[in-house]
Amino acid sequence: MAGFEGKTLEVDLTHHKISKGTLDKDILRKYIGASGLGAKLMFDRVDPHVDPLSPKNPFFLLTGPLSGNSLPGGSRFVTCGKSPLTNVFGEANCGGDFASEFRMAGWDELIFTGASDKPVYLLIQDDKVELKDATDLWGKGNFEVHHLLKERHGGRKPKVVAIGQGGEKMVKYAAVCNGEKDFAARCGLGALMGSKKLKAIVAVGTGKIPLAEPEKFAERRKIAIQKSKENIITMVLGMSGTVAAVEVSVATGDIPGSNWRIVGNPAAGKIGGAVVNSAAFLGGTESCHGCVVGCKRVMDIKEGPFKGFKGPGPEYEGVGALGSNLMMEDMGAVIKMNEMCNDYGLDVISCGGTLAWAMECFEKGILKAKDLDGIELKWGDADAAMKLITKIAKREGIGDLLAEGSKRAAAKVGLGSSDFTVEVKGMEVPMHDPRTMHGLAVSYATGARGACHTSDPMYTVGTGVYAFPEFGLTGALAAQVKISKGWGPAAKGAQDYGSVYNAGVLCYMVTGSINAEDLVDLFVTSSGFNYTFPELAECGERIWHMKRGINNLMGMTVKDDRLPVRMLTMPTEGGAAGSVPDMKLMLEEFYPIRGLAPDGRPTQETLARLGLNDLAAKLYK
Ligand code: SF4
Repeated sequence: MAGFEGKTLEVDLTHHKISKGTLDKDILRKYIGASGLGAKLMFDRVDPHVDPLSPKNPFFLLTGPLSGNSLPGGSRFVTCGKSPLTNVFGEANCGGDFASEFRMAGWDELIFTGASDKPVYLLIQDDKVELKDATDLWGKGNFEVHHLLKERHGGRKPKVVAIGQGGEKMVKYAAVCNGEKDFAARCGLGALMGSKKLKAIVAVGTGKIPLAEPEKFAERRKIAIQKSKENIITMVLGMSGTVAAVEVSVATGDIPGSNWRIVGNPAAGKIGGAVVNSAAFLGGTESCHGCVVGCKRVMDIKEGPFKGFKGPGPEYEGVGALGSNLMMEDMGAVIKMNEMCNDYGLDVISCGGTLAWAMECFEKGILKAKDLDGIELKWGDADAAMKLITKIAKREGIGDLLAEGSKRAAAKVGLGSSDFTVEVKGMEVPMHDPRTMHGLAVSYATGARGACHTSDPMYTVGTGVYAFPEFGLTGALAAQVKISKGWGPAAKGAQDYGSVYNAGVLCYMVTGSINAEDLVDLFVTSSGFNYTFPELAECGERIWHMKRGINNLMGMTVKDDRLPVRMLTMPTEGGAAGSVPDMKLMLEEFYPIRGLAPDGRPTQETLARLGLNDLAAKLYK
């Protein structure tokens, strides 16, 4: 099949049986790939009421037509499944080096069903696929497993996806890890792997990734490389990494402190991009497979208590969630906490969000040291936070409660502590504040997987460094970031675009250097489908509504399109002082243009227009 391997692998972990299948061309065209295919698979194969950690909840690993193609931002694969954290549609995508190897081995998608009675890993060597005993790997961290499996199966060539102890223990926000620096971290899909006793997946591929029009794709790739070298966002990412946003976010009021009570935490400057990129901390930079951006920081700490540490550096989200929001001011400690999460296989955003909630509980006397295994959980105390990260990953003592995420933990603890969980649909909010950019409010509140800054480009549009007029995302929007009017319609275009690039899969970070012509050409020359821009945009709409409809079938209603109380509390100081999103206005603007009925379901008319009659039949039976 031009543009795709056209092949799927299905692994029945209960019976240790592997079967090979083929992809349907018509479905591929309509859903593009990766998270689009994931949505279609979820709809077709997952009982909406299934317990996410039961063997009946499948785990999907999927690629798209751009995955692994040595394109800026083209390194990515997607994981999907009913989320153990949110109990609805879950997806998380990941850069690194796995997608290319998996596709070179000749596969587009992996489906795991059932659950093994003993730890296993899947070894894919081109067409030869087998389940191997992972008893010796169970209990080990992600880093060690990664190195052991590479060594065992040939050194540099094999590429590994694995879980750490967090996934084994089914921490509700456990990550799927590709090596030491790349993570499909959100939604707790690492716990889904753990529930199946699936420790890892190893791919070795000797083939070539099929491209529908290799020469034309190569030309387009050259243009994409040039643009990513000239674009202001990708240039800054290459020079300073995502942590470059810390200092900007202090000024704008975007980066939180003290569990989102401080907007634009001034102390975050002490753990910002300037420090990470200083000679005392920076050891080098790296890129995902085939990407020229080089946004990853490699640490080599040369001073302070963590002197001698060498390893992956934190992203902006790690600095925000484990550093600024917990009032940490020691860069070395934040880097170490970030590394611990990476090795245990925990999502830094949800882990940090849960710790911030616990610290506020301690401050208010809701949780005392005796409840926290003797730990005095004070703001800015890195030792205390590190002890808890280990307890969470191993579900030891108080870690068992915190492993459930802030929403479930607060429901259990009570005493008003649900008032200061900062989550949407159960998923802790990323480190960008909708009070600073009102567009994020509608994006967070209505996102399929809960609050997310990469499901759509609302954040980059709000910063004013990015526009995509064909999706209704104009440069003028940046001038009204603290005015709620107008962001509802913009969210529709942003979500459609996000659904396209997450199905492609294209890294969120390079979307700023892509215009409509690039987008169409990349998809046409890779996939072989003669997409036009309107058709691609309609695919985005279809995918968005499929995810929305799945969530409705899983029990989500209009009541779940909400923001946490804290994000609707007006700040009196900082870059967002006096600013709070008008959710009522924004949702009133958003619903009709998004094609949603007042009860939150896609309207029958919308579903018919997008060819989602099977979804309509279930939603309106
Ligand atoms: S921009 Fe950064 S995260 Fe995205 S693919 Fe390139 S190196 Fe990876």
